[in-house]
Amino acid sequence: MTSLNDLPLRADLVGKQPYGAPQDFVSITLNVNENTHELPDEIVDDITRQLRDAVKTANRYPDREFTELREKLAEFLGHGLTAENIWAANGSNEVLQQILQAFGGPGRTLLSFTPTYSMYPLLASATGTGWIAVPRPEDFVLTAEYVASKIREANPSIVVLCSPNNPTGTPLDKAVIEAAYDAFDGMLIVDEAYIEFAPEDRTALDLLQSRPRLLISRTMSKAFAFAGVRIGYLAANPVAVDALRLVRLPYHLSVLTQAAGVAALGHNKEMLSTVAEITRQRERIEARLAELGYEVHPTESNFVLFGGVKDPKATFEALRSKGILIRDVGIPNHLRVTAGTESETTAFLNAMAELG
Ligand SMILES: *Cc1c(COP(=O)(O)O)cnc(C)c1O
Repeated sequence: MTSLNDLPLRADLVGKQPYGAPQDFVSITLNVNENTHELPDEIVDDITRQLRDAVKTANRYPDREFTELREKLAEFLGHGLTAENIWAANGSNEVLQQILQAFGGPGRTLLSFTPTYSMYPLLASATGTGWIAVPRPEDFVLTAEYVASKIREANPSIVVLCSPNNPTGTPLDKAVIEAAYDAFDGMLIVDEAYIEFAPEDRTALDLLQSRPRLLISRTMSKAFAFAGVRIGYLAANPVAVDALRLVRLPYHLSVLTQAAGVAALGHNKEMLSTVAEITRQRERIEARLAELGYEVHPTESNFVLFGGVKDPKATFEALRSKGILIRDVGIPNHLRVTAGTESETTAFLNAMAELG
């Protein structure tokens, strides 16, 4: 039997662990912040029709520039953006990887404020980019002064700010983004994977004008209920978008992905119609967990990080044995749960109450 140690793996990858949120097929899956509502049948039918037309062209390579998808995404985002401002890939993780391929790499660094999205250090490692983790203050809230001083001190090639932050849910003030941008000459990524759950004026899209080093990453995986299709996208200055063309694989978005994305965006209001309901369920979780004596962190996302858990592994396993999967994100005495449908949320809260 050959083990990985017998293969000539890149030295900087030896001993690394792959990304691995458990994929249990339990009945209630509240561990990776998906939108747990299924798509309405009418939308499924319309997407299917458009996919059928796309399959007919499958003997040819797809539009390498996925022009229609970019136009639809620009229209959806508004803020005066056009297709030239838009880029997309198979999930925003791929977008982030392309940014690191273009602007990171050996001898360069990526800085972020931890705890934050666990993929950032993995993407850095995969692209040979150095990883600088700056701890957040105790309440996880970033201030303009703190962020600017840490960035100035480290002078990284790239900074990524997650807004709102995963796994803490913490909102990010626009003043922090402006201060971060002005504190260095590198690329600033704002990861807005959960921005649809935050108040409307939180988005950094209106900061793009006159900030060519600002990259705003979005995804259809969360609020948009489209995680399985794998579409993430970016809004940026057209020049920054050009940089990603240097590193993307040719035809990286399949004809099926492009068609599904265009079709779904044609229903964007309905696709996003569960956001208000999910936010209500999140507020239920916040209120009830506080009642049960847990320390609930302020959140503007579709998930809640809570502390005061004596033994996170035991609580995680107790819930799992009831068919409920949540997330141990490795913060001592904390767990994270995604707001699900009303009945999923009720099942989680009842189980938590029983655990006492
Ligand atoms: C879920 C998530 C993403 C999205 O990943 P996709 O590749 O688009 O599915 C990006 N950033 C953060 C912080 C996330 O939590």
